Amino acid sequence: MSQRNKNLKRRTRLKVKILNSTPDPERTIAAAGRLCYAPVGADELFEEMSDEDVSKLLRFLIKAGHHSAIEHAVYTFAIEGVSRACTHQLVRHRLASYNQQSQRYVRFLDDFEYITPPAIRDDEAMNETFNEYVGKAFELYKKMLASGIEAEDARYILPQAGETKIVVTMNARELLHFFSLRCCDRAQWEIRELAIAMLGLVKETAPVIFEKAGPGCMRSPCPEGKMTCGDPWPRDKE
Ligand SMILES: Cc1cc2nc3c(=O)[nH]c(=O)nc-3n(C[C@H](O)[C@H](O)[C@H](O)COP(=O)(O)OP(=O)(O)OC[C@H]3O[C@@H](n4cnc5c(N)ncnc54)[C@H](O)[C@@H]3O)c2cc1C
Repeated sequence: MSQRNKNLKRRTRLKVKILNSTPDPERTIAAAGRLCYAPVGADELFEEMSDEDVSKLLRFLIKAGHHSAIEHAVYTFAIEGVSRACTHQLVRHRLASYNQQSQRYVRFLDDFEYITPPAIRDDEAMNETFNEYVGKAFELYKKMLASGIEAEDARYILPQAGETKIVVTMNARELLHFFSLRCCDRAQWEIRELAIAMLGLVKETAPVIFEKAGPGCMRSPCPEGKMTCGDPWPRDKE
């Protein structure tokens, strides 16, 4: 890497963490779902349902399409090490709450971190050219800041590869929908990696709710028709 690019940091490590989530999500959902059919309150149901009753009811709710109860479990994720290209796709999911690092209020004075797609990284010559152009964009960005141009305008030169940080809150119902679309091979590689990482984390907290989460082929024949990848889930490698 040339001297000019010394402040560039190629960053590819995705970091996803659950900051907070509904305690006992499956029991909470089961109590809410069972309430519809019970003469007693959700408080009593929450305390008295057996673990087996909880699992059985959850499977029933999911199968029967009584999905409103699944909205009672909520997850807040801290996500780092993703590109702006990735978060642009993420925020299209409207039933969620977001806060993202601002390129107006945060000025990248020293380092500019960015994501390189594997297909570019694996091509030595292309990778070098990619790094060079990102470096040129960052140089111009810094030059503009130094000349008094506000960060909100200077950022127009920054590439979509730029690393960003975002906090996302989604309920379990929206997560199931998100996983259907974004764990699929048809999704772009970076948001797919993110979705698979998020699925792994939530599955640990709610194994029954998320047991069939993932692309459509987890639950029925692939809905992608002619676009199918022909390699249905579950897969060992995921
Ligand atoms: C493989 C792939 C390729 C894509 N390509 C493109 C592309 O080329 N161009 C592009 O613009 N987008 C593209 N998208 C984004 C896509 O069109 C959706 O914007 C995105 O996936 C969000 O999904 P959603 O709208 O189902 O769900 P969410 O916003 O997550 O909402 C969840 C569900 O709530 C309901 N809902 C939410 N809001 C409304 C509403 N206003 N009215 C009625 N029902 C509502 C719907 O049932 C919806 O499915 C692509 C997505 C994928 C997965």
